[in-house]
Amino acid sequence: MEVNLPQKDSPEDQEKRTAWLERNRTRYEFNPDYLPPLTVIKDVPDNESFSARYLAERLPATLGKLAANTLAVNVRSLWDPLDELQDFEDFYQKISPPSVMPTYQTDECFAEQRLSGANPIVLQRLQSLPPTLTYNLTDLQAAYGSALNLEKELKEGNLYVADYTQLAFVQGGTYLKGKKYLPAPIALFCWRGTGYGTRGELVPIAIQIAPHLGKESSLLTPFSPAMNWLYAKTCVQIADANHHEMATHLCYTHFVMEPFAIVTARQLFPTHPLSILLTPHFRFMLYNNELARERLVNQGGIVDDLLAGTLRESLQIVQQAYFTNAQNYWSLDKFALPTEIKNRGLDDQEALPHYPYRDDGLLLWEAIERYVTNYLKLYYTSAEELQEDYELQAWAGELTDQSGGKVKGMPSKINTTEELIAIVTSVIFTCGPQHSAVNFTQYDYLGFIPNAPLAAYQPIKNQFSHSENSLTLQELMAFLPPPNQVMGQIQILYALSAYRYDRLGYYDTPFPDRRAQVVLTRFQQELQTIERKIELRNKNRVTPYKVLRPSLVLNSISI
Ligand code: MN
Repeated sequence: MEVNLPQKDSPEDQEKRTAWLERNRTRYEFNPDYLPPLTVIKDVPDNESFSARYLAERLPATLGKLAANTLAVNVRSLWDPLDELQDFEDFYQKISPPSVMPTYQTDECFAEQRLSGANPIVLQRLQSLPPTLTYNLTDLQAAYGSALNLEKELKEGNLYVADYTQLAFVQGGTYLKGKKYLPAPIALFCWRGTGYGTRGELVPIAIQIAPHLGKESSLLTPFSPAMNWLYAKTCVQIADANHHEMATHLCYTHFVMEPFAIVTARQLFPTHPLSILLTPHFRFMLYNNELARERLVNQGGIVDDLLAGTLRESLQIVQQAYFTNAQNYWSLDKFALPTEIKNRGLDDQEALPHYPYRDDGLLLWEAIERYVTNYLKLYYTSAEELQEDYELQAWAGELTDQSGGKVKGMPSKINTTEELIAIVTSVIFTCGPQHSAVNFTQYDYLGFIPNAPLAAYQPIKNQFSHSENSLTLQELMAFLPPPNQVMGQIQILYALSAYRYDRLGYYDTPFPDRRAQVVLTRFQQELQTIERKIELRNKNRVTPYKVLRPSLVLNSISI
């Protein structure tokens, strides 16, 4: 196979390329109606299916163990609430329990999940109190007490927010035995630097569970009665879990990358260097996404059953994440890792020295960027070569076209290699590290149910006493998922976290061009250096951050 830009092929070969692509466009068609404005594939061609190896490895790795575990767990009654929080620990008889289990109730663990948990892209640095919060600084200080001077902390840029108020539209779906609920809280945090005698840590300051109700909704702090504070943190975790699955995971990785796989198959001939570079990063994605649409986000499916909203509402969270929230709609350039982190104000290493997702993610981002640069420069030695590459220009044109991929944040005509490097780096980073970071954390965080229930099973409480517990343990247990739902949540998140098909930078077949293979080998060496660097960092972290170790990152969104 001769790797070539189309304009460098002989006229006969150019004709062959064009005819082949025309045929391929009838195999890979767009479906714009599934969940507008997202674009998905109409029918998945057979060659996109999981391979025999994938199936042979993945199924035993998950189903066997899960079946044995389900048999071993003695579920007394499927629908009655459990008696106490420790009972949630009994669900892991034949599978290892999620790593968050021993510490989930602590404030440290709650705060750390904003920085290295399953959903590390919500936290934002504050310059002023968020308008969604009902209370002002005086209210906050009065509720929090004197442990911190909040006005000073705000002025110094040490306050952060996790804001889930955009989820307030969700009324809640149903399960076999009744109704489910979704809180839409706001949580404030403070970075306490080394001046407080620690190595620096993020601490929670306050939570308002239902800011859309105004002062009907109390302000809770770590100094609130213990059960009230635990309830408030659980509300944040429920909102975060729903946001994680529908926005961060499904929308910002699985669905936004789908048009790139479709258009690459439609516009780039298999010997096009960009097709050769990208195709391993799309492996199994179209098939896997279609499977998710048929079996996870279908009527009566897992999302419908386990997440808080109705199926329609959960899908609206996907759409909202992509499009309707003016500040946050997805675009390729805004979600480039360095930009995305900067837009949330979390790029300042001095202000926030501890942010594993950012620190490990940037190592991978930079390595991918160098790899992509070195690779593309083998084929594009001038801007003209790029501009004359009519397959590439058709690729960019269709990706951005309103009847094609509708991708925002990239040009419809690519003029410079730098533009192309930026696009390709974002795509490979999203398919690889970004998806792995939010996929393989599912079991360790959302797999332990009281840490991150996917739904509430009682109406959300808003009013709390400042001096005594406003709910009993029994009421808390009724609020959390009943055993049958617990089992369902464990099973799906275990299944989605248990199998890795491949690893970043290692492909099933070598590049046909030996020069490209040299570039790839250099990338692999760099990944090994990063591996050691992250291992060293993890020795100094209270909670090791494992998912961005290159050996645990996949090439593609294959699970
Ligand atoms: Mn996934």
